[in-house]
Amino acid sequence: MKIASYDILIIGGGPAGLMAARKAAQKGVKTLLVEKEKQFGLKVCGEAVSADTLAEAEMSPSESFICSREIDRVLVYAPQEEKNVEISAESIGYSGGYILNKMTFLKEMGRLALQEGTEIWMGALANQLVRHDGLFRCTIGTAKGDQLVEAKVVIGCGGVSSLVARRFFNRQGYRLIPCLQYQMANCHLVDQRSLEIFLGNNVAPGAYVWIFPKGEGLANVGIGTQGVPARRCLDRFIETHPQRFKKARVLSMGAAPVPIGGQIEELVQDGLMLCGDTAGQVIPLTGAGIHSGIAAGRIAGQVAAEALLEGNISREKLSAYPEQFNKVWGQCIIGSFKVQQLIVKLSDQELNQLADIFTGQDIVDLANGFNLTRVGIKLLKYPAFAAKIGRALIGKQSGIR
Ligand SMILES: Cc1cc2nc3c(=O)[nH]c(=O)nc-3n(C[C@H](O)[C@H](O)[C@H](O)COP(=O)(O)OP(=O)(O)OC[C@H]3O[C@@H](n4cnc5c(N)ncnc54)[C@H](O)[C@@H]3O)c2cc1C
Repeated sequence: MKIASYDILIIGGGPAGLMAARKAAQKGVKTLLVEKEKQFGLKVCGEAVSADTLAEAEMSPSESFICSREIDRVLVYAPQEEKNVEISAESIGYSGGYILNKMTFLKEMGRLALQEGTEIWMGALANQLVRHDGLFRCTIGTAKGDQLVEAKVVIGCGGVSSLVARRFFNRQGYRLIPCLQYQMANCHLVDQRSLEIFLGNNVAPGAYVWIFPKGEGLANVGIGTQGVPARRCLDRFIETHPQRFKKARVLSMGAAPVPIGGQIEELVQDGLMLCGDTAGQVIPLTGAGIHSGIAAGRIAGQVAAEALLEGNISREKLSAYPEQFNKVWGQCIIGSFKVQQLIVKLSDQELNQLADIFTGQDIVDLANGFNLTRVGIKLLKYPAFAAKIGRALIGKQSGIR
């Protein structure tokens, strides 16, 4: 069989892989990205991103891939729903966000990667990967039959089921929760600029329900759960919220897992790198992974290309990628994981009480693992929470993935 040779092979055309491809090709190395589906963005997703995500992707907001442009607040509901905390973008000095059309967003990322010189194969499933004479050989199933590809560096961006991770890495502690989402029409939402999040052990044990508006009554309505069937919980939530969903209909449904166990320890080996969901680079409490995946892809693509140009693709050289990524995202993922472990243990009554105590800023900090000591000190004033959460938040973050 004829072998096609590349400097870099990127497996997976999600946000992480497409950014890695663009950045690698920009540096002039011969880059191939393979995506098993015939279109980008088929995986179900809430599609909510911050404005900073587009800046990270070096893309300007465009009608072609944004459904809702003016997301400027989040409403977080306690189990007793009259108790909700409003997080307005203005109050926390944040520039708001968008609900994407992820398919067209990723298509645009694909166009940008192509423009920089990446070769992209769609409907191309990487199904075998071996080391061979200091290179990697990958068998790729395509409509034309199996193709053999050789590359000096392989970046695994295939998401939770990544071939590269399964074949070469130990993802100890990698933890997934099931998520289910309906796209619904005719929803009667509070408005078109608010994300709504619902917490509670009867609503979504271990995670939350989200309602993200996509304009004109369309919404992504989804759930993450731990230990109970997601569909039963989501259907119950919809039935018990007739004010929003009485006239609504499900247009499509999708399910996929989210890795919420924190970033895995080993991200690089000689000639190998992992990015995005593959590496557990999701913010554990929120389940958001588009921004961090793009950030990881950007750094990994650049580092891999520079290493190739210098002729040194050793683990040590490629370690510049986790070092740079962790400077910005490392503590955020560790901190958010720590908070998530504390929050899942709370009763509904405690969640109701916290809704009276927390400000929007407190919730943003906890969700993103920032300023945990500040929030911990605040909780020391409340005997019910001082020992249970306050001290744990103040404690050192080391030792927790
Ligand atoms: C229900 C749900 C809702 C979510 N909502 C949000 C949200 O609102 N905001 C947010 O920021 N994050 C959200 N996330 C998380 C977000 O979707 C992921 O973190 C993000 O897509 C990760 O990007 P990625 O590139 O690492 O992987 P993925 O997006 O999973 O992309 C991996 C790609 O690799 C391809 N692939 C896999 N194996 C192979 C192979 N062997 N050969 C070729 N191709 C392969 C897949 O087809 C896929 O296209 C949500 C996740 C789920 C499940």
